[in-house]
Amino acid sequence: MILPIVAYGDPVLKKKAKDITKDYSNFDSLLENMFETMYNAFGVGLAAPQIGLPVRLFLVDTTPFAEDEDLSQVEQKALNGFKRVFINAKIVKEEGDEWAFNEGCLSIPDVREDVFRKPKITIEYLDENFDEQKESFDGLIARVIQHEYDHIEGILFTDKLSSLKKRLIKGRLTNISKGKITVDYRMRFPDQKKRR
Ligand SMILES: [Zn+2]
Repeated sequence: MILPIVAYGDPVLKKKAKDITKDYSNFDSLLENMFETMYNAFGVGLAAPQIGLPVRLFLVDTTPFAEDEDLSQVEQKALNGFKRVFINAKIVKEEGDEWAFNEGCLSIPDVREDVFRKPKITIEYLDENFDEQKESFDGLIARVIQHEYDHIEGILFTDKLSSLKKRLIKGRLTNISKGKITVDYRMRFPDQKKRR
């Protein structure tokens, strides 16, 4: 089932999300619905707050990035089929010199900006079977995980922009909250006026 994606301005996107346990209700169908929702919107990641749930759960599938011809074959191969579920994740290390990448977000349609992040991360998490994992990632995979991880910390990529950039996009963000945009996937807008 495709779930509506919560738009910029909804308080759930600003909340630090809570851990979940194995008995979280309807977990398997939640995962299935989140993957379906992400693929339907052509996303490479989706975090639970984006569907209105303030819990520490996000998914990643970087396969669409593998088609980027600017990347090396090694990078393309790493991205192709990289699909993971991250539960109760904690980034324990971030290393290297920050690099810029033009990020977007399913909750903030049509806004793309360069965001600086460190290139290498180490993350502890539970996988979809609630088994403990600890892995290191770099490049675009790390980038997508960092973006989704920020969601469960209540942080959006627009929070990381310079104050000048923030001012420049303020009007567009307000329009997104009000639903004054065209978007080809289901969304829920916090400040949309009810039409009758
Ligand atoms: Zn996002």
